Amino acid sequence: MTKPLLIRNGRIIDPGQGLDQVGNLLIADGRISWLGDKDTAPPVSDYDVLYAEGLIVCPGFIDLHCHLRQPGFEEKETIASGSRAAAKGGFTTICCMPNTNPPLDSQAMIDYVKATAISEGAVRVLPIGCISKEAKSKELAEMGELAEAGVVAFSDDGMPAVSSRLMRQAMEYSLAFGLPIIDHCEDTVLAEGGQMNEGIIATRLGLCGIPAAAEENIVARDIALAQLTGARLHIAHASTAGSVELIRRAKEKGINITAEVTPHHLTLTDERVIGYDTNAKVNPPLRTEQDIKVLIQGLKEGVIDIIATDHAPHTENDKLCEFALAPFGISGFETALGSLMSLVHNGQIDIKLLISKLTGEPARIIGDRFGRLGTLAVGATADITIFNPDFEWIVDTSKFVSKGKNNPLNGERLKGKVMATIYRGKFAYKDDALPIGGK
Ligand SMILES: [Zn+2]
Repeated sequence: MTKPLLIRNGRIIDPGQGLDQVGNLLIADGRISWLGDKDTAPPVSDYDVLYAEGLIVCPGFIDLHCHLRQPGFEEKETIASGSRAAAKGGFTTICCMPNTNPPLDSQAMIDYVKATAISEGAVRVLPIGCISKEAKSKELAEMGELAEAGVVAFSDDGMPAVSSRLMRQAMEYSLAFGLPIIDHCEDTVLAEGGQMNEGIIATRLGLCGIPAAAEENIVARDIALAQLTGARLHIAHASTAGSVELIRRAKEKGINITAEVTPHHLTLTDERVIGYDTNAKVNPPLRTEQDIKVLIQGLKEGVIDIIATDHAPHTENDKLCEFALAPFGISGFETALGSLMSLVHNGQIDIKLLISKLTGEPARIIGDRFGRLGTLAVGATADITIFNPDFEWIVDTSKFVSKGKNNPLNGERLKGKVMATIYRGKFAYKDDALPIGGK
């Protein structure tokens, strides 16, 4: 049996409990067993100590949206490599999208992902099931079977549920299972051929644009269907000011809706595409300063509920081609915190708000069927992220644990780094510089 671990004198932040204080936290038998004030001794005599002076100790991050690529695209990522990259990024729970090959549209596929995650995964992996069979938007998947197999939500992400009729049916069925429908909102007809955000930069670069309306059309449609059915709707990767306004109005009307935004849509604009960097090609595309302003405001006001990475790894070869041919996506687990911390350092959002959008808020959307997540409450599973808010480092994608090196921040300086990720009481990731020892 391993010794209890005392995390000593860290700044413990758990917005769900209204907790922000320098203190001590004891982990024993995979659970948080005690919380105490600075310099108070824990109620056990034999334990290891992790010295957390100057570090933030918070609930393990939860990502409601990532792509682990297994089965079918193991050259891009696997459950093993993706979950290790997640751990390095501070995530202890990740929800993987079903656009694999074959897609996660049956009990057998969900069982496969769950079994692989248990034997090879570094953190908790919760699969999302397809809305439609083979994600083709023609026929509903066996949603009851998927719910029974333990999916956390339904989505055809990568593509929207193109058929409004099918989306209505999916929403009606989802009510019986109490699970959310997550939609990738894109009017594929309007967006067809688009490479980046429609606007002045696209014109200058001679690239075909994707207008904000391509996203907002489907956000509006889904809101109307959620109102019609009463289903729980979750909007994936909201990227435009218009989407924020639609979601705000839907919430004011009492429609059962939540929404997410990615770190890259909060911190990068379409100017990143100048130079035709295919690593900045992502769907929805990077937008404008004005969109970022409204997304941040939405985050602060609770219009946007959570931050999710949309971690979308690709091989180097996939992205080593002309811009128009490159696939969409950013490998985002390992830069999520560092890039988001720029918003804290420049005073745009509060550290407690950031943490709640990565912990307690996504836990609320997932519910309690997978245990008590996103909290440092005594008795809860010890899923904990420890990070240094001020540590400066240079992004080097060649050192990524993820197989996907596709990230436009390569070579850039970030301030804020995960030092340790504890999953169910054990280290899923630990930075070499982190001091740990006997008491
Ligand atoms: Zn998507």
